[in-house]
Amino acid sequence: MSRLLRYTIEGEDRFLSISLEFTPQRVGPQEIHLPIWRPGRYQAQYFAKNIAGITSSRGLIRKSGLSTWTLTIDSLDPVVLSYRYFADQPDAGGCVSQSDLLYINFIACLILPDRGENRPCEVNISLPFSIPPAIPTPAISIPPAISTLPGYRVNACSLTTYGSGFRAKSYRELVDSPFIAAPEIFSYSWKSHGVQFFIEGVGPQQHFSKRLLQAYERFVDFQIGYMEGFPGKKYHFLHWICPKPFYHGVEHTASTMMVMGPEDRDSYDDLIGLASHELFHVWNVATIRPKELLPYDYTRAVIFDTGWVIEGITTYLGDWFLWASGVVTADEYVGMLLGNLKLHFERDGESKQSLVESSIDLWLDGYGQALPGKRVSIYFKGALVALALDLMIRQKFNHQRSLRDVLLAMKAEFKKGYTRTDFYALVENVYEAPLSDFWRIWVEGNEPLGKRIGELMVFVGLSFKESPMQLEIQNAALLASFALANSQKQNI
Ligand SMILES: [Zn+2]
Repeated sequence: MSRLLRYTIEGEDRFLSISLEFTPQRVGPQEIHLPIWRPGRYQAQYFAKNIAGITSSRGLIRKSGLSTWTLTIDSLDPVVLSYRYFADQPDAGGCVSQSDLLYINFIACLILPDRGENRPCEVNISLPFSIPPAIPTPAISIPPAISTLPGYRVNACSLTTYGSGFRAKSYRELVDSPFIAAPEIFSYSWKSHGVQFFIEGVGPQQHFSKRLLQAYERFVDFQIGYMEGFPGKKYHFLHWICPKPFYHGVEHTASTMMVMGPEDRDSYDDLIGLASHELFHVWNVATIRPKELLPYDYTRAVIFDTGWVIEGITTYLGDWFLWASGVVTADEYVGMLLGNLKLHFERDGESKQSLVESSIDLWLDGYGQALPGKRVSIYFKGALVALALDLMIRQKFNHQRSLRDVLLAMKAEFKKGYTRTDFYALVENVYEAPLSDFWRIWVEGNEPLGKRIGELMVFVGLSFKESPMQLEIQNAALLASFALANSQKQNI
Protein backbone atom coordinates (compact mmCIF):
# COMPACT_ATOMS: atom_id res chain seq x y z
CA MET A 1 0.00 0.00 0.00
CA SER A 2 1.49 3.33 -1.07
CA ARG A 3 2.27 5.73 1.74
CA LEU A 4 3.15 8.51 -0.71
CA LEU A 5 1.45 11.88 -0.28
CA ARG A 6 1.20 13.36 -3.76
CA TYR A 7 0.57 17.10 -3.94
CA THR A 8 -0.04 19.37 -6.92
CA ILE A 9 0.09 23.12 -6.54
CA GLU A 10 -0.96 25.64 -9.18
CA GLY A 11 0.02 29.24 -8.63
CA GLU A 12 -2.75 31.74 -9.43
CA ASP A 13 -3.23 35.41 -8.68
CA ARG A 14 -3.05 35.52 -4.84
CA PHE A 15 -4.21 31.89 -4.56
CA LEU A 16 -2.75 28.40 -4.71
CA SER A 17 -4.94 25.70 -6.14
CA ILE A 18 -3.86 22.57 -4.25
CA SER A 19 -4.69 18.89 -4.40
CA LEU A 20 -3.52 15.99 -2.24
CA GLU A 21 -3.80 12.41 -3.44
CA PHE A 22 -3.17 9.68 -0.90
CA THR A 23 -4.05 6.07 -0.24
CA PRO A 24 -5.91 5.63 3.06
CA GLN A 25 -4.31 3.16 5.45
CA ARG A 26 -7.66 1.97 6.89
CA VAL A 27 -11.41 2.50 6.53
CA GLY A 28 -13.41 4.67 8.93
CA PRO A 29 -13.08 8.32 9.94
CA GLN A 30 -9.79 9.93 8.77
CA GLU A 31 -8.66 13.22 10.24
CA ILE A 32 -6.90 15.69 7.95
CA HIS A 33 -4.79 18.48 9.50
CA LEU A 34 -3.08 21.69 8.56
CA PRO A 35 -0.21 22.82 10.86
CA ILE A 36 -1.17 25.64 13.23
CA TRP A 37 2.40 26.96 13.56
CA ARG A 38 5.78 26.72 11.93
CA PRO A 39 9.22 26.14 13.51
CA GLY A 40 11.06 29.43 13.96
CA ARG A 41 7.99 31.29 15.22
CA TYR A 42 6.60 29.75 18.36
CA GLN A 43 3.13 31.14 18.05
CA ALA A 44 -0.13 29.70 16.69
CA GLN A 45 -0.79 31.23 13.29
CA TYR A 46 -3.73 29.02 12.23
CA PHE A 47 -2.92 28.89 8.53
CA ALA A 48 -6.34 27.20 8.05
CA LYS A 49 -7.87 30.69 8.01
CA ASN A 50 -6.64 30.80 4.39
CA ILE A 51 -8.80 27.82 3.33
CA ALA A 52 -12.52 28.32 2.75
CA GLY A 53 -13.27 24.63 2.27
CA ILE A 54 -11.95 21.27 1.07
CA THR A 55 -13.63 18.93 -1.41
CA SER A 56 -13.07 15.20 -1.67
CA SER A 57 -13.11 12.90 -4.72
CA ARG A 58 -14.81 10.24 -2.58
CA GLY A 59 -16.63 10.26 0.70
CA LEU A 60 -17.83 13.13 2.82
CA ILE A 61 -15.34 15.63 4.27
CA ARG A 62 -16.41 18.07 6.97
CA LYS A 63 -14.67 20.66 9.12
CA SER A 64 -14.18 19.22 12.62
CA GLY A 65 -11.65 21.52 14.32
CA LEU A 66 -9.86 24.85 13.83
CA SER A 67 -7.28 23.22 11.57
CA THR A 68 -8.82 19.77 11.18
CA TRP A 69 -11.23 18.15 8.73
CA THR A 70 -12.71 14.64 9.01
CA LEU A 71 -13.15 12.42 5.97
CA THR A 72 -15.20 9.22 5.95
CA ILE A 73 -13.13 6.47 4.29
CA ASP A 74 -15.13 3.54 2.89
CA SER A 75 -12.44 1.80 0.81
CA LEU A 76 -8.66 1.80 0.51
CA ASP A 77 -8.66 3.31 -2.99
CA PRO A 78 -6.76 6.59 -3.46
CA VAL A 79 -8.56 9.80 -2.43
CA VAL A 80 -8.01 13.27 -3.88
CA LEU A 81 -8.67 16.30 -1.69
CA SER A 82 -8.76 19.74 -3.33
CA TYR A 83 -8.82 23.28 -2.00
CA ARG A 84 -7.75 26.83 -2.72
CA TYR A 85 -5.30 28.54 -0.39
CA PHE A 86 -5.16 32.32 -0.03
CA ALA A 87 -1.46 33.07 -0.68
CA ASP A 88 -0.96 36.68 0.24
CA GLN A 89 1.35 36.64 3.26
CA PRO A 90 4.51 38.39 1.99
CA ASP A 91 7.02 37.44 4.70
CA ALA A 92 9.65 34.72 5.04
CA GLY A 93 7.23 32.30 6.71
CA GLY A 94 4.14 32.75 4.53
CA CYS A 95 3.04 32.04 0.94
CA VAL A 96 2.86 34.51 -1.92
CA SER A 97 1.51 33.91 -5.43
CA GLN A 98 1.64 36.84 -7.81
CA SER A 99 2.44 37.59 -11.44
CA ASP A 100 6.20 37.75 -10.88
CA LEU A 101 6.77 35.60 -7.79
CA LEU A 102 5.74 32.30 -6.31
CA TYR A 103 6.95 31.73 -2.78
CA ILE A 104 5.65 28.73 -0.85
CA ASN A 105 6.18 27.57 2.69
CA PHE A 106 4.65 24.13 2.39
CA ILE A 107 4.00 24.02 6.13
CA ALA A 108 1.49 26.84 5.81
CA CYS A 109 -0.56 25.36 2.99
CA LEU A 110 -0.25 21.56 2.67
CA ILE A 111 -2.77 19.44 4.58
CA LEU A 112 -1.82 15.93 5.69
CA PRO A 113 -3.60 12.83 7.01
CA ASP A 114 -3.45 12.41 10.81
CA ARG A 115 0.00 11.12 11.87
CA GLY A 116 1.24 11.40 8.30
CA GLU A 117 4.32 13.46 9.19
CA ASN A 118 6.76 10.71 8.28
CA ARG A 119 5.10 9.70 4.98
CA PRO A 120 7.12 10.36 1.79
CA CYS A 121 5.94 13.24 -0.36
CA GLU A 122 5.98 14.33 -3.97
CA VAL A 123 5.01 17.84 -5.02
CA ASN A 124 4.42 19.20 -8.52
CA ILE A 125 4.18 22.92 -8.96
CA SER A 126 2.82 25.10 -11.80
CA LEU A 127 4.05 28.68 -11.80
CA PRO A 128 1.73 31.71 -12.01
CA PHE A 129 3.93 33.24 -14.74
CA SER A 130 5.67 32.09 -17.91
CA ILE A 131 9.34 31.20 -17.86
CA PRO A 132 11.60 33.49 -19.93
CA PRO A 133 12.98 31.77 -23.06
CA ALA A 134 16.66 32.62 -22.62
CA ILE A 135 18.96 32.61 -19.62
CA PRO A 136 20.54 36.06 -19.29
CA THR A 137 24.30 36.32 -19.16
CA PRO A 138 25.90 36.91 -15.77
CA ALA A 139 26.17 40.60 -15.15
CA ILE A 140 28.70 40.82 -12.34
CA SER A 141 32.26 39.62 -12.25
CA ILE A 142 33.55 37.29 -9.57
CA PRO A 143 37.22 36.68 -8.76
CA PRO A 144 38.67 33.28 -9.67
CA ALA A 145 38.86 32.17 -6.02
CA ILE A 146 35.10 31.76 -6.11
CA SER A 147 34.19 28.52 -7.75
CA THR A 148 31.01 29.08 -9.74
CA LEU A 149 29.86 32.05 -11.74
CA PRO A 150 26.49 33.45 -10.87
CA GLY A 151 23.71 32.67 -13.28
CA TYR A 152 19.98 32.86 -13.32
CA ARG A 153 17.35 30.25 -12.83
CA VAL A 154 13.63 30.23 -12.15
CA ASN A 155 13.24 28.33 -8.93
CA ALA A 156 15.17 27.43 -5.84
CA CYS A 157 14.53 24.88 -3.11
CA SER A 158 16.67 22.49 -1.07
CA LEU A 159 14.54 19.45 -2.01
CA THR A 160 15.55 16.81 -4.55
CA THR A 161 14.01 17.51 -7.97
CA TYR A 162 11.84 14.78 -9.46
CA GLY A 163 10.22 15.21 -12.87
CA SER A 164 8.59 18.62 -12.87
CA GLY A 165 8.53 18.74 -9.11
CA PHE A 166 10.24 17.65 -5.94
CA ARG A 167 10.41 14.63 -3.71
CA ALA A 168 10.88 14.64 0.03
CA LYS A 169 11.54 11.63 2.21
CA SER A 170 8.87 12.82 4.62
CA TYR A 171 6.28 15.54 5.16
CA ARG A 172 8.66 16.84 7.84
CA GLU A 173 11.41 17.36 5.27
CA LEU A 174 8.98 18.87 2.76
CA VAL A 175 7.68 21.51 5.15
CA ASP A 176 11.24 22.38 6.21
CA SER A 177 12.08 23.31 2.59
CA PRO A 178 10.63 26.57 1.29
CA PHE A 179 10.28 27.03 -2.48
CA ILE A 180 10.77 30.21 -4.46
CA ALA A 181 10.27 30.85 -8.17
CA ALA A 182 10.46 34.00 -10.26
CA PRO A 183 11.09 34.81 -13.93
CA GLU A 184 14.70 35.45 -12.90
CA ILE A 185 16.54 34.33 -9.78
CA PHE A 186 20.14 35.26 -9.04
CA SER A 187 22.09 32.09 -8.35
CA TYR A 188 25.60 31.50 -7.12
CA SER A 189 27.18 28.37 -5.67
CA TRP A 190 30.40 27.27 -4.03
CA LYS A 191 31.77 24.52 -1.84
CA SER A 192 32.97 24.82 1.74
CA HIS A 193 34.30 21.83 3.69
CA GLY A 194 32.78 19.57 1.02
CA VAL A 195 29.30 21.10 1.44
CA GLN A 196 27.60 22.75 -1.57
CA PHE A 197 26.28 26.21 -0.72
CA PHE A 198 23.91 28.31 -2.82
CA ILE A 199 23.03 31.98 -2.72
CA GLU A 200 19.79 32.51 -4.58
CA GLY A 201 17.74 35.64 -4.73
CA VAL A 202 14.84 37.51 -6.24
CA GLY A 203 15.21 41.26 -6.56
CA PRO A 204 17.62 43.88 -7.90
CA GLN A 205 20.96 42.23 -8.60
CA GLN A 206 23.07 44.97 -7.01
CA HIS A 207 22.17 43.46 -3.62
CA PHE A 208 24.07 40.27 -4.54
CA SER A 209 27.41 42.03 -4.80
CA LYS A 210 30.86 40.44 -4.91
CA ARG A 211 31.40 41.82 -1.41
CA LEU A 212 28.28 40.06 -0.13
CA LEU A 213 29.20 36.71 -1.71
CA GLN A 214 32.70 36.87 -0.25
CA ALA A 215 31.32 37.74 3.20
CA TYR A 216 28.99 34.72 3.09
CA GLU A 217 31.87 32.46 2.04
CA ARG A 218 33.94 33.66 4.98
CA PHE A 219 31.43 33.18 7.76
CA VAL A 220 30.24 29.87 6.29
CA ASP A 221 33.82 28.54 6.34
CA PHE A 222 34.31 29.82 9.85
CA GLN A 223 31.09 28.44 11.31
CA ILE A 224 31.71 24.96 9.88
CA GLY A 225 35.21 24.99 11.39
CA TYR A 226 33.86 26.27 14.70
CA MET A 227 31.31 23.43 14.88
CA GLU A 228 33.73 20.83 13.44
CA GLY A 229 31.60 19.86 10.46
CA PHE A 230 28.25 20.55 8.83
CA PRO A 231 25.22 18.32 9.35
CA GLY A 232 24.21 18.24 5.66
CA LYS A 233 25.57 18.06 2.12
CA LYS A 234 24.01 21.26 0.75
CA TYR A 235 22.53 24.50 1.98
CA HIS A 236 20.61 27.32 0.27
CA PHE A 237 20.55 30.98 1.28
CA LEU A 238 17.27 32.14 -0.29
CA HIS A 239 16.60 35.88 -0.60
CA TRP A 240 13.71 38.04 -1.60
CA ILE A 241 14.62 41.71 -1.86
CA CYS A 242 11.16 43.28 -1.75
CA PRO A 243 9.84 46.81 -2.43
CA LYS A 244 8.62 47.48 1.14
CA PRO A 245 10.77 48.00 4.24
CA PHE A 246 11.38 44.51 5.61
CA TYR A 247 13.81 42.49 7.73
CA HIS A 248 12.80 38.89 8.29
CA GLY A 249 14.48 35.51 8.17
CA VAL A 250 13.38 31.95 8.86
CA GLU A 251 15.75 29.09 9.59
CA HIS A 252 15.55 25.60 8.12
CA THR A 253 17.81 22.55 8.18
CA ALA A 254 19.03 22.88 4.58
CA SER A 255 18.13 26.48 3.81
CA THR A 256 17.12 29.85 5.11
CA MET A 257 14.68 32.32 3.61
CA MET A 258 15.38 36.00 4.11
CA VAL A 259 13.11 38.87 3.09
CA MET A 260 14.76 42.29 3.02
CA GLY A 261 13.53 45.65 1.79
CA PRO A 262 13.07 48.20 0.43
CA GLU A 263 14.89 47.55 -2.84
CA ASP A 264 16.62 50.93 -3.00
CA ARG A 265 18.67 50.65 0.18
CA ASP A 266 22.07 49.13 0.92
CA SER A 267 21.13 45.76 2.40
CA TYR A 268 24.69 44.48 2.91
CA ASP A 269 24.99 44.96 6.69
CA ASP A 270 21.55 43.55 7.43
CA LEU A 271 21.98 40.59 5.09
CA ILE A 272 25.33 39.44 6.47
CA GLY A 273 24.01 39.73 10.03
CA LEU A 274 20.80 37.87 9.27
CA ALA A 275 22.44 35.19 7.09
CA SER A 276 25.12 34.44 9.71
CA HIS A 277 22.39 34.14 12.36
CA GLU A 278 20.18 31.86 10.25
CA LEU A 279 23.08 29.60 9.24
CA PHE A 280 23.97 28.97 12.87
CA HIS A 281 20.41 27.75 13.46
CA VAL A 282 21.37 24.70 11.34
CA TRP A 283 23.06 23.56 14.55
CA ASN A 284 21.23 25.52 17.21
CA VAL A 285 17.63 24.32 16.81
CA ALA A 286 17.52 22.45 13.49
CA THR A 287 19.82 19.68 14.75
CA ILE A 288 20.43 20.44 18.46
CA ARG A 289 16.97 21.00 19.88
CA PRO A 290 15.03 21.29 23.14
CA LYS A 291 13.37 17.97 24.02
CA GLU A 292 9.89 19.49 23.72
CA LEU A 293 10.52 20.23 20.02
CA LEU A 294 11.79 16.76 19.14
CA PRO A 295 9.97 15.96 16.94
CA TYR A 296 7.94 19.02 16.03
CA ASP A 297 4.22 18.66 16.74
CA TYR A 298 2.58 21.03 14.24
CA THR A 299 -0.92 20.58 15.63
CA ARG A 300 -0.58 22.22 19.06
CA ALA A 301 1.28 24.92 20.96
CA VAL A 302 4.54 23.39 22.19
CA ILE A 303 5.68 25.21 25.32
CA PHE A 304 9.39 25.20 26.20
CA ASP A 305 11.51 27.32 28.51
CA THR A 306 14.79 27.35 26.55
CA GLY A 307 13.93 29.71 23.68
CA TRP A 308 16.74 31.93 24.99
CA VAL A 309 19.27 29.12 24.35
CA ILE A 310 18.10 28.90 20.72
CA GLU A 311 17.78 32.58 19.92
CA GLY A 312 20.14 34.16 22.48
CA ILE A 313 23.21 32.10 21.63
CA THR A 314 22.44 32.39 17.89
CA THR A 315 22.03 36.17 18.09
CA TYR A 316 25.26 36.55 20.05
CA LEU A 317 27.37 34.17 17.96
CA GLY A 318 25.83 35.23 14.62
CA ASP A 319 27.41 38.66 15.06
CA TRP A 320 30.58 37.37 16.70
CA PHE A 321 31.22 35.04 13.72
CA LEU A 322 31.30 38.07 11.41
CA TRP A 323 34.12 39.54 13.46
CA ALA A 324 35.99 36.29 14.10
CA SER A 325 35.90 35.42 10.37
CA GLY A 326 37.18 38.84 9.32
CA VAL A 327 33.97 40.06 7.67
CA VAL A 328 33.73 43.04 10.06
CA THR A 329 36.41 44.93 12.00
CA ALA A 330 36.75 45.06 15.79
CA ASP A 331 35.24 48.57 15.78
CA GLU A 332 32.29 47.40 13.69
CA TYR A 333 31.76 44.41 15.97
CA VAL A 334 31.80 46.56 19.09
CA GLY A 335 29.15 48.74 17.41
CA MET A 336 27.01 45.66 16.74
CA LEU A 337 27.44 44.46 20.31
CA LEU A 338 26.42 47.86 21.66
CA GLY A 339 23.35 47.76 19.39
CA ASN A 340 22.26 44.43 20.89
CA LEU A 341 22.94 45.62 24.45
CA LYS A 342 20.80 48.69 23.82
CA LEU A 343 17.97 46.55 22.47
CA HIS A 344 17.88 44.76 25.80
CA PHE A 345 18.68 47.51 28.29
CA GLU A 346 16.74 50.36 26.70
CA ARG A 347 13.62 48.33 25.90
CA ASP A 348 13.45 45.53 28.45
CA GLY A 349 16.06 46.31 31.12
CA GLU A 350 13.38 46.83 33.79
CA SER A 351 10.92 44.17 32.58
CA LYS A 352 9.15 42.01 35.14
CA GLN A 353 9.65 38.64 33.49
CA SER A 354 12.66 36.37 33.51
CA LEU A 355 14.05 34.75 30.37
CA VAL A 356 12.41 31.49 31.43
CA GLU A 357 8.99 33.14 31.76
CA SER A 358 9.28 35.05 28.49
CA SER A 359 10.35 31.86 26.73
CA ILE A 360 7.21 30.08 27.97
CA ASP A 361 5.15 33.12 26.93
CA LEU A 362 6.45 33.15 23.33
CA TRP A 363 3.09 31.67 22.36
CA LEU A 364 1.27 34.57 24.04
CA ASP A 365 3.23 37.64 23.03
CA GLY A 366 6.74 36.65 21.96
CA TYR A 367 6.48 38.53 18.68
CA GLY A 368 5.10 41.97 17.96
CA GLN A 369 3.57 44.13 20.69
CA ALA A 370 3.42 43.07 24.34
CA LEU A 371 2.26 44.62 27.59
CA PRO A 372 4.87 47.32 28.39
CA GLY A 373 7.31 46.22 31.11
CA LYS A 374 6.25 42.55 30.93
CA ARG A 375 8.51 40.49 28.70
CA VAL A 376 12.21 40.34 27.92
CA SER A 377 13.47 39.41 24.47
CA ILE A 378 14.75 35.86 24.21
CA TYR A 379 16.95 37.25 21.41
CA PHE A 380 18.60 40.19 23.15
CA LYS A 381 18.55 39.21 26.82
CA GLY A 382 19.42 35.73 25.59
CA ALA A 383 22.40 37.22 23.72
CA LEU A 384 23.43 39.05 26.90
CA VAL A 385 23.44 35.72 28.79
CA ALA A 386 25.46 34.09 25.98
CA LEU A 387 27.98 36.95 26.09
CA ALA A 388 28.26 36.67 29.88
CA LEU A 389 28.81 32.90 29.70
CA ASP A 390 31.43 33.26 26.97
CA LEU A 391 33.28 35.91 29.00
CA MET A 392 33.11 33.92 32.26
CA ILE A 393 34.41 30.75 30.61
CA ARG A 394 37.15 32.66 28.77
CA GLN A 395 38.20 34.47 31.94
CA LYS A 396 38.36 31.34 34.09
CA PHE A 397 40.39 29.44 31.47
CA ASN A 398 42.25 32.44 30.02
CA HIS A 399 40.68 31.91 26.56
CA GLN A 400 41.69 28.22 26.54
CA ARG A 401 37.96 27.51 26.69
CA SER A 402 35.01 29.52 25.45
CA LEU A 403 31.35 29.25 24.53
CA ARG A 404 32.54 27.08 21.64
CA ASP A 405 33.20 24.25 24.09
CA VAL A 406 29.56 24.53 25.22
CA LEU A 407 28.28 24.30 21.64
CA LEU A 408 30.55 21.37 20.76
CA ALA A 409 29.44 19.54 23.90
CA MET A 410 25.77 20.24 23.05
CA LYS A 411 26.36 18.80 19.58
CA ALA A 412 27.94 15.67 21.06
CA GLU A 413 25.58 15.12 23.99
CA PHE A 414 22.14 16.45 23.07
CA LYS A 415 21.31 14.17 20.16
CA LYS A 416 18.00 13.32 21.85
CA GLY A 417 17.23 16.90 22.83
CA TYR A 418 17.83 18.82 26.04
CA THR A 419 15.97 20.42 28.92
CA ARG A 420 16.95 23.59 30.74
CA THR A 421 18.43 21.43 33.52
CA ASP A 422 20.47 19.49 30.95
CA PHE A 423 21.78 22.78 29.53
CA TYR A 424 22.72 24.07 33.00
CA ALA A 425 24.60 20.84 33.79
CA LEU A 426 26.46 20.86 30.48
CA VAL A 427 27.63 24.48 30.91
CA GLU A 428 28.71 23.77 34.49
CA ASN A 429 30.71 20.83 33.21
CA VAL A 430 32.57 23.07 30.75
CA TYR A 431 33.00 25.73 33.47
CA GLU A 432 34.06 23.11 36.03
CA ALA A 433 32.00 24.72 38.80
CA PRO A 434 28.35 25.19 39.82
CA LEU A 435 26.65 28.24 38.34
CA SER A 436 23.48 28.24 40.48
CA ASP A 437 23.74 31.94 41.28
CA PHE A 438 24.32 32.79 37.63
CA TRP A 439 21.20 30.96 36.48
CA ARG A 440 19.11 32.44 39.32
CA ILE A 441 20.14 36.01 38.53
CA TRP A 442 20.59 36.07 34.73
CA VAL A 443 18.08 33.47 33.51
CA GLU A 444 15.47 32.99 36.23
CA GLY A 445 15.53 36.50 37.69
CA ASN A 446 14.71 40.01 36.55
CA GLU A 447 17.25 42.26 38.23
CA PRO A 448 19.14 44.87 36.17
CA LEU A 449 22.39 43.44 34.77
CA GLY A 450 24.23 46.50 33.44
CA LYS A 451 26.81 46.62 36.22
CA ARG A 452 27.49 42.88 36.07
CA ILE A 453 28.02 42.74 32.30
CA GLY A 454 30.22 45.84 32.48
CA GLU A 455 32.48 44.12 35.02
CA LEU A 456 32.76 41.01 32.82
CA MET A 457 33.68 42.98 29.71
CA VAL A 458 36.77 44.55 31.35
CA PHE A 459 38.56 41.22 30.83
CA VAL A 460 38.38 41.63 27.03
CA GLY A 461 39.37 45.30 27.06
CA LEU A 462 35.89 46.79 26.75
CA SER A 463 34.44 49.61 28.82
CA PHE A 464 30.65 49.63 29.19
CA LYS A 465 28.69 52.60 30.55
CA GLU A 466 24.95 52.55 30.99
CA SER A 467 23.93 56.19 30.98
CA PRO A 468 24.25 57.28 28.27
CA MET A 469 24.90 53.79 26.95
CA GLN A 470 28.43 53.45 25.59
CA LEU A 471 30.79 50.63 24.73
CA GLU A 472 34.41 51.55 24.08
CA ILE A 473 37.62 49.71 23.35
CA GLN A 474 39.99 50.31 26.28
CA ASN A 475 42.61 47.73 25.39
CA ALA A 476 42.86 46.52 21.77
CA ALA A 477 45.28 43.70 22.62
CA LEU A 478 42.89 42.21 25.17
CA LEU A 479 40.04 42.60 22.71
CA ALA A 480 41.98 40.73 19.99
CA SER A 481 41.99 37.53 22.10
CA PHE A 482 38.21 37.72 22.24
CA ALA A 483 38.06 37.26 18.43
CA LEU A 484 39.68 33.83 18.70
CA ALA A 485 37.42 30.81 19.12
CA ASN A 486 39.74 29.48 21.80
CA SER A 487 43.44 28.89 21.77
CA GLN A 488 43.33 25.12 22.17
CA LYS A 489 41.53 24.61 18.88
CA GLN A 490 42.97 26.83 16.18
CA ASN A 491 41.89 24.63 13.30
CA ILE A 492 39.16 26.98 12.13
ZN1 LIG B 1 16.86 33.08 15.12
